[in-house]
Amino acid sequence: MTDSTLGFRLLNKDGAARRGEVTTPHGVIQTPCFMPVGTRGAVKSLTQRDLLDLDTQIILGNTYHLYLRPGDGLIARCGGLHAFIGWDRPILTDSGGYQVFSLAAMRRIKEEGAEFRSHLDGSLHMLTPERVTDIQAQLGSDIAMVLDECMASPAGPDAARDAMQRSVRWARRARDRQLQLRHDAASAPEVLVTNPGQAQFGIIQGGVCPELRTESVQATLDIGFEAYAIGGLSVGEPVEVMYDVVGHTAPLLPEDRPRYLMGTGMPDDLLECVARGIDLFDCVLPTRNARNGQLLTSRGPLVIKNARYAEDMAPPDPDCACYTCRHFSRAYLRHLFIAGEMTAATLNSLHNLHFYLDTMRRIREAIVFGSFEKLRLEFRQTYSRRPQI
Ligand SMILES: [Zn+2]
Repeated sequence: MTDSTLGFRLLNKDGAARRGEVTTPHGVIQTPCFMPVGTRGAVKSLTQRDLLDLDTQIILGNTYHLYLRPGDGLIARCGGLHAFIGWDRPILTDSGGYQVFSLAAMRRIKEEGAEFRSHLDGSLHMLTPERVTDIQAQLGSDIAMVLDECMASPAGPDAARDAMQRSVRWARRARDRQLQLRHDAASAPEVLVTNPGQAQFGIIQGGVCPELRTESVQATLDIGFEAYAIGGLSVGEPVEVMYDVVGHTAPLLPEDRPRYLMGTGMPDDLLECVARGIDLFDCVLPTRNARNGQLLTSRGPLVIKNARYAEDMAPPDPDCACYTCRHFSRAYLRHLFIAGEMTAATLNSLHNLHFYLDTMRRIREAIVFGSFEKLRLEFRQTYSRRPQI
């Protein structure tokens, strides 16, 4: 592996909102940007062609799932994740830590790493900071995340401090391993690096405590990564607390690197966190809610199975230009969902992702024209988290 080719150009600022460009080995990402989640090498119910039609700039893959099945060794022998899944735009892979905490049948955190039983077959595994770095080097994502200790729900200050400090120690080990793979690949012949130039992001932890967040930023910046993410949020804390932590942490991160808020959020979260200086987002919400029959529209969530839509020939969102809204009615989408047709998941996911990606496009445009605050206010007035009636 050679040095990372990740670059970042800050193009415009509007308040704390930033318009930028991230350069990766597989192309440029315009930020602020939302990354659809392709857990097991696929964004559920969609094809890669659908993602291109939506003008998806980058997708996320889950290290935990791909490591267990089909295995990072197999993917590396097939040329890496891009070749394996037929996607030549950028990919970010998470560290797998969050899935170990939320999915594994059993987990035990040791200083060495996280030991767990697979949710697939109960087999015993150990993910260490080094191993997670190797797995992602074999997957060949453009952006790799370090292994961190995740909290499944908001933790008390002592637990948050312990997890933050362990995450820092793990981040140091992950970085050392990444630099070893880059500069002395011969010393790790068992690792097949499929994407020279892969970047590695550090993760800021510290729960909802501002002092711990500040400490985590200082310690993680001391290690030094291509860029930094804010982790450990959207785990059940009140949304205003999440905004406060982001508002505290983002300005502490380097101005000349992209900032990634992990696992957030609702459509209004995107605007509120861009307003606090975030550049990259991911969340399963648009695709997961689509499969559960919830369409996210410019006015708020729409639960398609409701009887009131049975003969409603209006599109899901009259203000949306997506394939689903241009061609199909609420009545038809309700029928597909209730009948259990697979097409329901596809059409709903196309709409929800279009809504997210289009919102990001409007955000980028507004920052360039200096009208981001106006857009934020309009969105706040139109969008409601309560389901539409
Ligand atoms: Zn639509």
